[in-house]
Amino acid sequence: MSEINYKKIGLKAGLEIHQQLDTQEKLFCSCSTAMQEKEPIAVIMRKQHPVASELGEIDIAAQHEYLRDRTFYYQVFKNETCLVELDEEPPHEMNREALNLALQIALLLNCQIPDEIEVMRKTVIDGSNPSSFQRTMVVGLNGFFNYKGKKIEIKSVSLEEDAAAIVSEEKGKVTYRLNRLGVPLVEISTGILSNFTPEEIEDIAYQIGMICRSTGKVKKGIGAIRQDLNVSIKGGERSEIKGVQELGLLSKVIENEVKRQLSLIEIKAELRKKGVKKINFKPIEVNKFLQDSNCRILRAVVETGGKVFALKLPCFAGYLKREIFPGKTLGRELAEFVQIFGVEGIIHSDEDLSKYKVEADFKKIREFLKAKDEDAIILVGEPKTNGKVSEELLKKINRILEVGVEKETRSVDEQGITRFTRPLPGAARLYPETDIKPVLIEREFLEKIKKELPEPWTKKYERFKKKFGLSDELAKPLLESKYFELFEKIMEKYKVSPAIVANTFVNILKDLQRREKVDVDRITENHFSQLFDALAKKEIVKEAIPEILKYLANYPGETVQNVVKELNLRPISTAELKKIAEEVIAQPGLTYEKAVGIVMSQVRGRIEAQTVMEVVKKLMKK
Ligand SMILES: [Zn+2]
Repeated sequence: MSEINYKKIGLKAGLEIHQQLDTQEKLFCSCSTAMQEKEPIAVIMRKQHPVASELGEIDIAAQHEYLRDRTFYYQVFKNETCLVELDEEPPHEMNREALNLALQIALLLNCQIPDEIEVMRKTVIDGSNPSSFQRTMVVGLNGFFNYKGKKIEIKSVSLEEDAAAIVSEEKGKVTYRLNRLGVPLVEISTGILSNFTPEEIEDIAYQIGMICRSTGKVKKGIGAIRQDLNVSIKGGERSEIKGVQELGLLSKVIENEVKRQLSLIEIKAELRKKGVKKINFKPIEVNKFLQDSNCRILRAVVETGGKVFALKLPCFAGYLKREIFPGKTLGRELAEFVQIFGVEGIIHSDEDLSKYKVEADFKKIREFLKAKDEDAIILVGEPKTNGKVSEELLKKINRILEVGVEKETRSVDEQGITRFTRPLPGAARLYPETDIKPVLIEREFLEKIKKELPEPWTKKYERFKKKFGLSDELAKPLLESKYFELFEKIMEKYKVSPAIVANTFVNILKDLQRREKVDVDRITENHFSQLFDALAKKEIVKEAIPEILKYLANYPGETVQNVVKELNLRPISTAELKKIAEEVIAQPGLTYEKAVGIVMSQVRGRIEAQTVMEVVKKLMKK
């Protein structure tokens, strides 16, 4: 596909950013938000049934979920789950620290704060909440921030409970971890972003994430920030893509979704031109042709009392193998659609049929259906559902023929490839939470929060560069890290080079984590204070920092002073260095590089590398 002109195709996107707040306790109970427990202490099973709304309608997405007939298993964790998460006990009082943080974020995004904050229940149908609803409250409305001279509209900022995290899903059994449920989460929804490229939309998401980080109290790491986005183009429909965990994937996900919508619109137009507007053939059961099929999958369905259904799609030959976006064909997309209902997939005539050993079966079925060469055939094996899934598939194909793209919810994998998850739920899904009284936001309280509002990250960024002389390469990752506040504390207290401190927080910790698998989160604020105090007093040289931090991560009970003694990291003088270097050089036949290497190994972490090189060079010249 050639370069896409996003303006011309009318790309519109909306972002919904979910950021976990780093409070000690959950939003409506005292459970820890650490999410550190590995082994569940109990597992609880639940099943859901769709309930008609007050208007007597059942939501299309809820109905779809019901058809999937899934059972939910919830893992319970010590200290991280209680009866509130299980909906066996009413919510406790709201966590005020979380509310304050959410209000700070809303104010940083120039939102209007409502006088009264009312907790609502939002219907949840995917089982990620045992109560079937999520508590949410709007804390800010009608905000904005500036991006490249344009105003980015912030529709709302809400504070809500995070959902349970999915562990696994197979054969209608879905397992969730309950420890994430109830962790305070801020949801930021932008207005419609039009006239932006996918890269710019990704950058806007980054800016919003950094505004949240300005508070210094947000969780980090995988899953701590998740982006949902909706995407549409001219002639397409809004699709909602859930849970992009890596910011760097966002632009690719948008590009792929645009390509998918363009492809479906194109396929619809081409087939219409061929006179195919709707498929009227009903799925037909074809078990009788498969009694002694060579295909293991189909025979298994027939032998266990299930049924295999065939769909004839006129003029569809070739379309099922067409790539609708990189990494996905139309056939694959349809296979994933039926998999949602617990069926293994489909076999279609655009595939390599020998792979499934179904060439002979397809021939017989084609004859039976009087299919022409230009027609495609799809087989769906339904172990239990008796044609219901094939009916759904036919409806899906007919919707492609009718509208091309339809409203739907899609999930995304680590490569940025999306797949269908369910139809888009209807809008009216909020109702008041009667267990919690609305919170009045008094003027004084709001003024106090405004006064104590953290410095926005863009300002801090400029200040860090100006005041501390930090390069972009250090200032940016430092602000992205959780150490930017500690950095300032250390700069206030100790006379040390800002670049050395920033480099420790940005690069040394990252190296220790990546290369040596050191758990750097075990290093405390106190450790860092001792470290830079020692550096300021010249009790250590900067070369000793990695070794000391590594040791402290392994033995967090230790002090920096003890580690210096234990690892023999007391700095040596140039005179001492000279003595060591002279002895080394006395060995015959050494090159400069080799000599430096040997000396270095004896004085590592005790004197600057630069000095070692200079001294050895000088001595060897003699
Ligand atoms: Zn709890």
